[in-house]
Amino acid sequence: MARYVMKFGGSSLATVEHIRAAAEVIARQRRAGHEVAVVLSAMGDTTDELLAKAMAVSGRPNPRELDMLLSSGEQVSVALMAMALRELGFPARSLLGHQVRILTDSVHCKARIEKVETERLEAELHAGVIPVVAGFQGIDSLDEVTTFGRGGSDTTGVALAAALKADECQILTDVDGVYTTDPRMVPQARRLARVTFEEMLELASLGSRVLQIRSVQFAGKYNVPVRVLHNSGVGEGTLISYEEPDVEAPVVSGIAFSRNEAQVTITGVPDRPGNGYAVLRSVSESHIVVDMIVMNAPRAGIVDFSFSVPREEYDQAMELARTAAVEIGAGDVLGSASVAKISVVGVGMRSHAGVATTMFEVLAREGVNVRMVSTSEIKISVLIEEKYLELAVRSLHEAFGLDQAPVAAN
Ligand code: ASP
Ligand code: MG
Repeated sequence: MARYVMKFGGSSLATVEHIRAAAEVIARQRRAGHEVAVVLSAMGDTTDELLAKAMAVSGRPNPRELDMLLSSGEQVSVALMAMALRELGFPARSLLGHQVRILTDSVHCKARIEKVETERLEAELHAGVIPVVAGFQGIDSLDEVTTFGRGGSDTTGVALAAALKADECQILTDVDGVYTTDPRMVPQARRLARVTFEEMLELASLGSRVLQIRSVQFAGKYNVPVRVLHNSGVGEGTLISYEEPDVEAPVVSGIAFSRNEAQVTITGVPDRPGNGYAVLRSVSESHIVVDMIVMNAPRAGIVDFSFSVPREEYDQAMELARTAAVEIGAGDVLGSASVAKISVVGVGMRSHAGVATTMFEVLAREGVNVRMVSTSEIKISVLIEEKYLELAVRSLHEAFGLDQAPVAAN
């Protein structure tokens, strides 16, 4: 007998038919003899619709009241699911965050879980009852309702799995796992049998939007194996855990990309201590998150200083850069909002050289110019012109052998 937390996302709960189908999937696990706790998102686009209502009433909704409103979506889905499970002959009980006692800090709309009390959950499980817990919500020390940010039910699922020492947190969704890259761009993309937490963090943050990034951090911190599964419950999905893949597994596990990029370059920056700082300070004081940074070697006492920012912040970043350029006596400010980022990710890079060389070779062969680069132990990211994005992702996917099923893994 295993203990599972099964979390269903909004698209898997879009209608009452979906809820009944999900109840069947849960029932199957129970019939197989497993213990199950369920965590649910709100049905379909409920949260978006609630948010739209709030915005129609107030341009800047009060955060406490917004939490009160948004948390109502999950109340609907858990009650319906408990009823559906009862119809199938399984005792089930819906529970809101405050009934479980999912305790959080007081930061409305992006609260962090501090503790999940297990007494009530354990009692239900012990009595053979399936607890059906509202995702995305908790309470703070003053019993105020809090929510965890969009997609926050994933974090509820993982937090419950950690607290209940579950064997696995299963995330049931409308895709059947994590892919080597976006299959809409590369039809040859394959489902990965397993990835590590670290790889998933890189793949998630770079746009493989399968899981809320915070839930992956949480899972890594508490070592909770997470399995992304199709909401039909069929198949093996993708297991996200600490385990490193086989030695024969490919060096690169996946390729993530993002179109949401822009580049700013300040030319003719006098090569003096403090000038880079002056630029970055003004940008970060405006809460713009800088991603890549490149400074070339000085020639005749001047350097070019480039950085990338989210595309929606491009105009503001250009303004700030122009002001900073005047202050430090630099030259023109150039920029582009039609750039994209590609990242090749894989824990295998730790022990294999030459990934960057292959990446540059492939891009050179395709005539794609690299504008910026950043690396970590398990990732190499490049910024390129957006119009070459598809070509580059497809070529890299093939060059790193991701089209073919690995021999040893799987
Ligand atoms: N219903 C919330 C949202 O859409 C939480 C979730 O789905 O995970 O963001
Ligand atoms: Mg949702």
